[in-house]
Amino acid sequence: MSNESLANLLKEERRFAPPAELAANANVTAAAYEQAKADRLGFWAAQARRLSWAKEPTETLDWSNPPFAKWFKDGELNVAYNCVDRHVEAGLGDRTAIHFEGEPGDSRTITYAELQREVSKAANALTELGVEKGDRVAIYMPMIPETVVAMLACARLGAPHSVVFGGFSADALATRIEDADARVVITSDGGYRRGKPSALKPAVDDAVARVDSVRHVLVVRRTGQDVAWTEGRDVWWHEVVDRQPETHEAQPMAAEHPLFILYTSGTTGKPKGILHTSGGYLTQVSYTHHAVFDLKPETDVFWCTADVGWVTGHSYIVYGPLSNGATQVLYEGTPDTPHQGRWWEVVQKYGVTIFYTAPTAIRACMKWGDDIPAKFDLSSLRLLGSVGEPINPEAWMWYRKHIGADKTPIVDTWWQTETGGIMISPLPGVTETKPGSAQVPLPGISATVVDDEANEVPDGGGGYLVLTEPWPSMLRTIWGDDQRYQDTYWSRFQDKYFAGDGAKKDDDGDIWLLGRVDDVMLVSGHNISTTEVESALVSHPKVAEAAVVGATDPQTTQAICAFVILRGGAEEVDGLVEELRSHVAKALGPIAKPKRILPVAELPKTRSGKIMRRLLRDVAENRQVGDVTTLADSTVMDLIQAKLPSAS
Ligand code: ATP
Ligand code: MG
Repeated sequence: MSNESLANLLKEERRFAPPAELAANANVTAAAYEQAKADRLGFWAAQARRLSWAKEPTETLDWSNPPFAKWFKDGELNVAYNCVDRHVEAGLGDRTAIHFEGEPGDSRTITYAELQREVSKAANALTELGVEKGDRVAIYMPMIPETVVAMLACARLGAPHSVVFGGFSADALATRIEDADARVVITSDGGYRRGKPSALKPAVDDAVARVDSVRHVLVVRRTGQDVAWTEGRDVWWHEVVDRQPETHEAQPMAAEHPLFILYTSGTTGKPKGILHTSGGYLTQVSYTHHAVFDLKPETDVFWCTADVGWVTGHSYIVYGPLSNGATQVLYEGTPDTPHQGRWWEVVQKYGVTIFYTAPTAIRACMKWGDDIPAKFDLSSLRLLGSVGEPINPEAWMWYRKHIGADKTPIVDTWWQTETGGIMISPLPGVTETKPGSAQVPLPGISATVVDDEANEVPDGGGGYLVLTEPWPSMLRTIWGDDQRYQDTYWSRFQDKYFAGDGAKKDDDGDIWLLGRVDDVMLVSGHNISTTEVESALVSHPKVAEAAVVGATDPQTTQAICAFVILRGGAEEVDGLVEELRSHVAKALGPIAKPKRILPVAELPKTRSGKIMRRLLRDVAENRQVGDVTTLADSTVMDLIQAKLPSAS
């Protein structure tokens, strides 16, 4: 980014106050900001006491060797005990922990008492397979209850898990198994995806053949499809787990004992194994789940639609909700199988009250049409959340109106694999929300926006998002590579954590995320955020989704080039492109007017649903398209290129 800070283009005037009833009964009030401001470490020490410790910590933070943090270092706890056993001991064993909904329509209800038995049996089975404290276990699974059980069983034994998203290739799996030196892989024959069984075991066979470390592959039978079998190495879950004793004594672990490694999706370079540990991580994910989602465990039904292979699934399906004794939905499949109202049917079926999803999914629903959610009873919903990308204000408005009946607050939560838990978000009972802004650091979190020289920008200014103080669920390092940890996150702005995202502060000091720094464009000397131009396009009634890139241009350094998906029913008529260009110019100013706009049927996305602007930049600059292996659907690029006038 050049010295010129981001042009502050987008003006968003809409405001939504918290509903009075929610505010009156909110888990967390404005007082939390004051308490944390007065004594940040004391605040986190108090949140740690929401957990059950075998040995209470006496020291909150050891930051004597930055950037290597130790939180609650003399404390001891067992993470799985906190997520399961303590609820059963408190008499809540009959409470539903998981409403599982399989894609084909099969369902299962699992209480906390059942979860305790399943986790205990799985922990006993892993012990029988030779897994000891400290050994790494890779998990390559569909979205089924056994995945949650497997993660908790590892946590119970102090065996760090490395969950690899089930959509990743054998190659990606092999690299991750090797990097973590995993001893056991837990997988299944397959899972249901878009109406049919999709195999997982072949990728495991392929990956395990290429590495030396794996002794056993533990296989859950989900689809019943045929699998190749390696005697001695492969074991069926139902044969080994089901016959185990139903009790298992959870051992306390040191607060800094590794809980899991999770590889970031790796859009650039070798994937980074992000290391999270036990006490600080659980403190923050538990507190943020309680505060940001205002969870009332007796009455709420929580649903986070993320895959457990992403950090969102780790923190807000497994560890956050279960540590709080929540009842939640776990759904195996895609939102449009067998029909585009499937999610809303699930909300209606289980009476979901809190719903957490990603902007990409919201924009897909906008594209499919308002009439689809309208067919279902969504009146149980009281709070909506968003994560993964900046949410365009118009998508935010659609979400509130068509899913939230124009009354539910929306929490736009900014965080990363590296941060472990939510960092910047409105509090639903406190914050007056603004469509498209994550707004304020949570109590106990210190975030700001700085310029190239690491100086904090004034309100109204733009630059880079940084975190200025350590936080409990921060990554502890990159697995096996302390130097890369320091270089990647802690070297650019002295002793501040550099998140890699562009951001601006509005006149109230609220934070707006502007996408990755690599995605910021330089147009005639102005830094313009792809996010803002995309949001302006999505605010046109005919546009469902947009991806904007800067293409090298001899006159303006970069020229704005936009790819748009039209809303259900909208047609690509003559003059539409011109209309959209003027619309952006009107919304943001003439400097942001796209030079080219291309309507397309699909956009290239990573498997977690994020737009891969790098590939679109290749198209816009008439280059050979780069590495497409992390794309969810690699044929998308062919479709886009086919639409291009060959030499432009
Ligand atoms: P990789 O680091 O491997 O390229 P990734 O950054 O997509 O992958 P995640 O850790 O899942 O992996 O995503 C974190 C990023 O997602 C953030 O840095 C930010 O760019 C974006 N993000 C997440 N939530 C929000 C949000 N609420 N608003 C804006 N951006 C968000
Ligand atoms: Mg990242």
